[in-house]
Amino acid sequence: MRIWIKDPLAIFAAGAERGVVVEGSRIAERVGRGQTPERIDATYDASRAVVLPGLVNAHHHFYQTLTRAHPQAINKKLFPWLVALYTIWSRLKPAHLRLAVRMALTELLLSGCTTAADHHYLYPAGLEDAVDIAVEEALRLGVRMTVSRGSMNLSAKDGGLPPDSVVQDEETILADGERVLKLFHDPKPGARIRIALAPCSPFSISKDLMTESARLAERYDCQLHTHLCETDDEEQFCLSMYGLRPVDLLEETGWMSSRVWLAHGIHFNAEEIARLGRAGVGVCHCAASNMVLTSGVCRTCELEAAGAPVGLGVDGSASNDASNMMEAVRHALMIGRLRYGADKITHLDVLRWATEGSARCLGRSDIGTIVEGREADLALYTLDEPRFSGAHDPLAALVLCGAHRADRVMVAGEWRVVDGMPVGLDLGGLIAEHSAAARDFA
Ligand SMILES: [Zn+2]
Repeated sequence: MRIWIKDPLAIFAAGAERGVVVEGSRIAERVGRGQTPERIDATYDASRAVVLPGLVNAHHHFYQTLTRAHPQAINKKLFPWLVALYTIWSRLKPAHLRLAVRMALTELLLSGCTTAADHHYLYPAGLEDAVDIAVEEALRLGVRMTVSRGSMNLSAKDGGLPPDSVVQDEETILADGERVLKLFHDPKPGARIRIALAPCSPFSISKDLMTESARLAERYDCQLHTHLCETDDEEQFCLSMYGLRPVDLLEETGWMSSRVWLAHGIHFNAEEIARLGRAGVGVCHCAASNMVLTSGVCRTCELEAAGAPVGLGVDGSASNDASNMMEAVRHALMIGRLRYGADKITHLDVLRWATEGSARCLGRSDIGTIVEGREADLALYTLDEPRFSGAHDPLAALVLCGAHRADRVMVAGEWRVVDGMPVGLDLGGLIAEHSAAARDFA
């Protein structure tokens, strides 16, 4: 089956003015100006749509959709915000998590996201199957996922930040990491599910767990992920606990590699940026979360110039508090402008970070761009809302006028959103169930 996505209003791809041909799960052909593709079985009229490669969300905590705008946590910086929420989160049960995952994936999908990384690091007793739940829900909704098997093993009694009730010991963490790698990790191009190993952050894990996670990732050929250099508090913690700055901690534990992508990456010095770039360590910029928690601003331009892949993430829904990937694109433009000036960051830069950049963070070259042979993951937006009326450059309008909902979304050649609604899912029913779970839990 060859489908021609025909004559888009605009498309974020070179040489595809007349659209793209999708064959099976892949992009078969870009159709340039004045060209007509051959052997077409079906045509989709895209003349009202701006077409992007499906957006790739490189950092999130799906379970946090249950504690958005929580009165105990709002108006705080990272450490007090975490301490306020840990005890609430320790009550999380599998049924709550399943609805949270379904809601986060649906919200992301509706915003045009086709691949999402979730970092689940919370393991109170009874929640041992968190990864299995995420995989089941992702396959059901048809969104690609890197499910990051998170971990915490340094609780308050050992000098860490989280309470005892949400951490596990190192042996349990590594054994479960290996279990889910064997069960679910697919390193091949076109994979629906990949697993990453993701010790949570320097103030909630031991140095040994970082080293052993890196060894396990090497054996199973998977990515490694953690939060790093999000706040000054974290830097002080590393200096007093280990006598090391956070990037030196990465170096000592075998994490300076292109297998690694970091969430936030704000408080690096120039020498550290050069080292991260040389090693090919990716950085996921989480603009909304950084603004809400007043953590600082990621040095995206310096990191990219040094050679580090830069991607975008919405971050957890208790610090954003939304899971909208198109909004994340706009936030990255706004905060980037404030830092670097009007001529240094364009709408094309932030769209590139949200697609190809995030895909590189996740170690994927099969998604993130509209090129022959890549996966047919596409997001189509119409510009017929009041906010776009009078707009001229359609690609710029998506970002500057604030697109937030896709009209159609395709993953691996299949439509997963049609007319702005998820295919095969009762959205009203999900909102009702998820809201009830949030009330019950939090
Ligand atoms: Zn995070």
